[in-house]
Amino acid sequence: MTDSNPQSPDLHGTGARTQNNFLRDIIAEDVRTRKYGDAQIQTRFPPEPNGYLHIGHAKAICIDFGLADEFGGKTNLRFDDTNPEKEEQEYVDSIQKDVRWLGFQWERLCYASDYFPQLYEWALQLVKTGKAYVDDLSADEIRQHRGTLTEPGKDSPYRTRSIEENLDLFIRMKQGDFPDGSRVLRAKIDMASPNINMRDPVMYRILHASHQRTGDQWCIYPMYDYAHGQSDSIERVTHSMCTLEFADHQPLYRWYIEQLGIFPTQQIEFDRLNITYTLLSKRKLLQLVSEKRVSAWDDPRMPTLCGLRRRGFTPEAIRAFCAAIGASRTNGSTDIEMLEHFQRDDLNRRASRAMAVLHPLKLVIDNYPADKAEFMEVANNPEDPSAGTRQVPFSRELYIEQDDFRELPPPKYYRLSPGKEVRLRNAYFITAQSVVKDSAGNIVEVHCTYDPASRGGNSPDGRKVKSTMHWVSAAHAISAEIRLYDKLFLKPDPSDVEEGQDVLSNLNPNSVEILTGAKLEPSLANARPGDRFQFERVGYFCLDPDSTPANLVFNRTLPLKDSWAKEAGRQQKGSK
Ligand code: ATP
Ligand code: MG
Repeated sequence: MTDSNPQSPDLHGTGARTQNNFLRDIIAEDVRTRKYGDAQIQTRFPPEPNGYLHIGHAKAICIDFGLADEFGGKTNLRFDDTNPEKEEQEYVDSIQKDVRWLGFQWERLCYASDYFPQLYEWALQLVKTGKAYVDDLSADEIRQHRGTLTEPGKDSPYRTRSIEENLDLFIRMKQGDFPDGSRVLRAKIDMASPNINMRDPVMYRILHASHQRTGDQWCIYPMYDYAHGQSDSIERVTHSMCTLEFADHQPLYRWYIEQLGIFPTQQIEFDRLNITYTLLSKRKLLQLVSEKRVSAWDDPRMPTLCGLRRRGFTPEAIRAFCAAIGASRTNGSTDIEMLEHFQRDDLNRRASRAMAVLHPLKLVIDNYPADKAEFMEVANNPEDPSAGTRQVPFSRELYIEQDDFRELPPPKYYRLSPGKEVRLRNAYFITAQSVVKDSAGNIVEVHCTYDPASRGGNSPDGRKVKSTMHWVSAAHAISAEIRLYDKLFLKPDPSDVEEGQDVLSNLNPNSVEILTGAKLEPSLANARPGDRFQFERVGYFCLDPDSTPANLVFNRTLPLKDSWAKEAGRQQKGSK
């Protein structure tokens, strides 16, 4: 664990830890009743290496690692690598990187494929005790025989094969005597069970596919339901927490463990994280990548952990968010604004401030000497005095935001307009005097005068201004590319689509806007990829790895406005 333990009593003052979490109650009760004797609490996080982790996985990671840690237990990272066709080393590597980035360290790194020999031995054991049989029905026929929710299934004609015949066929399945799909090994349970998962589930399939770790050693591969519980049992997992869609699989999970008489791990289900405007399915995210709807898995609009990281999200904020949402037994949907709120809260506390003008307009101070430059001492983070100060150059020609000037101000427009006085943040009071226009009538320069007595932005005589604006010195400014991101999907529930339409029809066509002419204060030239800033009055930004010294690229993590905090009736902690 890192020192900012997600289960520490008070998470950055968010109060998140007080959130009810029924999983914690179950573990606490098992500890109290000594259900596992002297054994430590053991959990696992079991991703399939078939894609990159997303924010939904972060919830599972925080639960698996966080709860074990809270009870002095340990967590394994286990790759559930039983589908050789979809799995890749790239995913194995990225998953480890992302779990570490979130702030967690596993006890053991495990692979379900390491257990293939043991799983096979146990399958033999079930065959020998008449609990499993080889079925020659095709996949389609098995489906037809399975019945429906209202009708019982039908026994396969191969269900009554002798133990000897089953043993011979299963061994030959493993030896590679049969083609893909020609036979399967099934558990012999109950074709009339009201739970369809108990109607003689498939345990092994024949697949002559090369596995990224075991190569061509195996041509039969275990199904998820057969591999998962037994892997948990091998690792002596006391609490195997997974999402609610596995609740119907729990009787099967227990059946294998009981038939084999092995370590009694237990499965407990919790609600899957759904976030508005967000798609959390590796399969769908892979489609976005492969169809080039986004630049890559780490496109800053992606809900993947690598995408969020590149966007500027922090592990601390993601953990605080996960702690706050807790876990329950009913699926729901969480507002994306809540995640954003936790991110703003964290960045407000920690991000260095800087001045950046996204849409520059030249401002000339007519009564400021042309050959002069001075340096203003500016706090790096008003929320954190220990962040120190920096020197920001000021001179006669500046850039301000185009939006901060109106030649003809509408009612209640308090920013700069002819004859109006405003404050340049940390600098001086200025009063607009005139404008210069190009031949098309566009304003290209605003001329103003400044009050030398207002240095530091302080009123010299108690007179008030209604607006404070950011600026950068034109002579000292550096240029940068700014990438402004918006929601990737248009609808709160992206899977809400017309008949026959794909979720990708809900993609937001304007989810990124690229600005090339932004002007930044010169200190930002020293930023390194991943560094995060609050551009004052504009938002939170993070330097993108695409940056070069000649072409800085900043991603907007979030604008400043926090709508969730307001909606939730909370005190808004964000910056003005
Ligand atoms: P996906 O549907 O995105 O592919 P998955 O469930 O197939 O997800 P796994 O790699 O099997 O992905 O997931 C590893 C663990 O993460 C599992 O325990 C799973 O229950 C959990 N998990 C996956 N998605 C979510 C989610 N949205 N919310 C909470 N936990 C999740
Ligand atoms: Mg899965």
